[in-house]
Amino acid sequence: MIAVIKKNTSKEQIAHLTSWLEEQGVEVHPSYGVDYTVLGLVGDTSKIDMELLDSLAIVDTVKRISDPFKQCNRNFHPEDTVIDIGGVKIGGGHFAMIAGPCSVESREQMIAVAKSVKAAGATLLRGGAFKPRTSPYDFQGLKAHGIEYLLEAKKETGMPIVTEIMNANHLPLFEDVDVIQVGARNMQNFELLKELGKTKKTILLKRGLANTLKEFLMSAEYIMSEGNGNIILCERGIRTYETYTRNTMDISAIPLLHELSHLPVIADPSHATGKSRLVEPMAMASVAAGADGLMIEVHNDPAHALCDGAQSLTPDNFAHLAGKIQKVREII
Ligand code: PEP
Ligand code: MN
Repeated sequence: MIAVIKKNTSKEQIAHLTSWLEEQGVEVHPSYGVDYTVLGLVGDTSKIDMELLDSLAIVDTVKRISDPFKQCNRNFHPEDTVIDIGGVKIGGGHFAMIAGPCSVESREQMIAVAKSVKAAGATLLRGGAFKPRTSPYDFQGLKAHGIEYLLEAKKETGMPIVTEIMNANHLPLFEDVDVIQVGARNMQNFELLKELGKTKKTILLKRGLANTLKEFLMSAEYIMSEGNGNIILCERGIRTYETYTRNTMDISAIPLLHELSHLPVIADPSHATGKSRLVEPMAMASVAAGADGLMIEVHNDPAHALCDGAQSLTPDNFAHLAGKIQKVREII
């Protein structure tokens, strides 16, 4: 961390600041210029309150040199992390295709969709049992029964399953779930992240609706700091002023996250766009930008879906998309 001290600051004021910083366990290396003095802070600067330092009258600017996220940082671990989910690998050149309905609606629906997405090339099955809905009057998911139907679909097709958790108290229900999803709305539910960090499960962490990539990686850091490094990052679009789409797909997040972190990065063009016709082009763009996988909402009857029908592909649409993705992957 570097603190630039304002012009005309006295030596005594700088000495006073220096001893305050040293008391917090860092070494202070001053460089005296003609007008400004620069203090280089070396050591564990994580305890330094950057905003407080910046607010001092004699301080001009403060800059953090190292990233606040450590364990998910590529500098800390230069090789790509490869996660193995019951034999399905993701990251480091391994591509995963996650598909399934927004929410689990019935046993029959789940098994029918599972079979059709598997036939089209999906490697993991998704379905929401606990649904984070904007309105409390909307369908909230089948909860424990939803997980039961997902497990039946897994048994029928052999595909590992992905489903969202909203409350750490529900963890016992997720014992046989292969990948636990943390949805956009819970990206900064730090207590939930810490609990998931104590498990060995693979966590699919979605970017929050209005979160920066740094905040996103700090959330991954919460899980890793408790000992669980099995994390997949998912770009799912962010809120902007655009209203034609449900969110704005931030394709640049994909190569940037790869630069910053060693964790696998997937894209969810379904929630990013909210419109089924935009899912395929955004899926292709994501893969061209280096995504390690895709998460696509597929419903057997989108017009009657209990959740997110407008962005859901039919199994035929999904098969078409999967063919296109295969071609993009061959090119890149
Ligand atoms: C979902 O995947 O069904 C979901 C609710 O996504 P998000 O958290 O990205 O809105
Ligand atoms: Mn959805």
